[in-house]
Amino acid sequence: MWPRLLSHPRSSPRLLFADSKGRIYDHPHLLALGLSGLDVVLPEPEDFIPLPVGSALYVLPDRHPVGLDPESQTPVILRENPFQPGEPAFAVAGYLAPAHTQLYLAPYLEARPDLEPLPLFSYACVGWAGGRFFATAFRSDFDHRQEVRFFDEERIETRAREMLSRFPRNRLVKHLVENCVRRYRCPAARNFVLGRWEAPIPTSPACNARCLGCLSLQEEDGPHVAQERLSFVPSPEEIAEAMVPHLKKAPRAVVSFGQGCEGEPLLQARTLEQAISLMRKSTSRGTINLNTNASQPEAVARLRRAGLDSMRVSLFSARNFLYQAYFRPRNYDLQDVKESIRLMKEGGGFVSLNLFVFPGLTDEREEFEALCEVVSLGVDFIQLRNMAVDPLWLLRRIGFKPQGENLGIRGLVAALAQRFPRLRFGYFNPPLR
Ligand code: SF4
Repeated sequence: MWPRLLSHPRSSPRLLFADSKGRIYDHPHLLALGLSGLDVVLPEPEDFIPLPVGSALYVLPDRHPVGLDPESQTPVILRENPFQPGEPAFAVAGYLAPAHTQLYLAPYLEARPDLEPLPLFSYACVGWAGGRFFATAFRSDFDHRQEVRFFDEERIETRAREMLSRFPRNRLVKHLVENCVRRYRCPAARNFVLGRWEAPIPTSPACNARCLGCLSLQEEDGPHVAQERLSFVPSPEEIAEAMVPHLKKAPRAVVSFGQGCEGEPLLQARTLEQAISLMRKSTSRGTINLNTNASQPEAVARLRRAGLDSMRVSLFSARNFLYQAYFRPRNYDLQDVKESIRLMKEGGGFVSLNLFVFPGLTDEREEFEALCEVVSLGVDFIQLRNMAVDPLWLLRRIGFKPQGENLGIRGLVAALAQRFPRLRFGYFNPPLR
């Protein structure tokens, strides 16, 4: 399916751990283990690739790493730093660069029960071998729209200033520049000011779901929010003014409603419908996309008629009990989501799933069967995104109980590809025009 370009370690990488100053070490003999649901497993050397450029290594506070003792072949919890007796050892995990999908998570033991959940990042299994860092992952998309080497800070700031002076009264442009580009360094907003690839259109301060891993709204005892939520609804005119030039000129142009810094865009369906009509009146070029929880089928059908090209549906699980446990939807359910997909396809639109990959859950055979039911509605593309949440905290919150056989993440993708030969896989919203 994907050309195997990258090298693998000759043998299992060694465990990484950190000291209380955050300095990272490789263990003299313990091997790196992966977490799959509640199980720790020894990944195959072929599961590891060199840690992709643009990834980060995170030290997990008050959490001890778990490695494999190659002699006894048993998992070992590393509480103490072997190089500083009496000093604690902390777990290390990888936050993978975009376009790479995790195969295993980093296993850890919480040092005490009342810990705050880790921030909203993904925590992939990492190790050390042959003088370099490795991660259990594969490149799932060869589009380079979010590769760090293509982001020139000075050029971004120059273009951002130009954008503000070009659209002085446009609140959406002001939000994208001051909040998304300058404060959060959002790659999509940076590509917008650089006039290329995919641009973001946040529109909704409200949402009709309460996702456990929501980036912009969390409860008191939840993880810290990653982004502040938008506080206004841009007008259709502001949206069209900002996005029509992008649709007309940007290479591989995509403009996307539904971003991390907002609630659910379908709650602003009237505004979206008018904005799409205005944009399509000005140009037929580029792709107009909607990232959504797909909770309102009728609204989806109306947007498709107005000119929406593609819809990306967020999905933690296609099994109703897990969908309910994660999304905690208000006044809609998984049936509505499926109906939205059916109507978008019936209207000739393109549908992607934004699948939150959680090794040990996403690749359960039961999940595969449930996913097949959704894909059979005509899904064209699956984006293999890494679930960005504290793994053990999430498994507790959803009351996770393993449901039998696991296919492995690669096995899941291969099984889906076999059952649906036309189904494509990737990481980003594909340009369609
Ligand atoms: S649908 Fe989006 S905005 Fe709404 S709770 Fe979930 S992640 Fe947050």
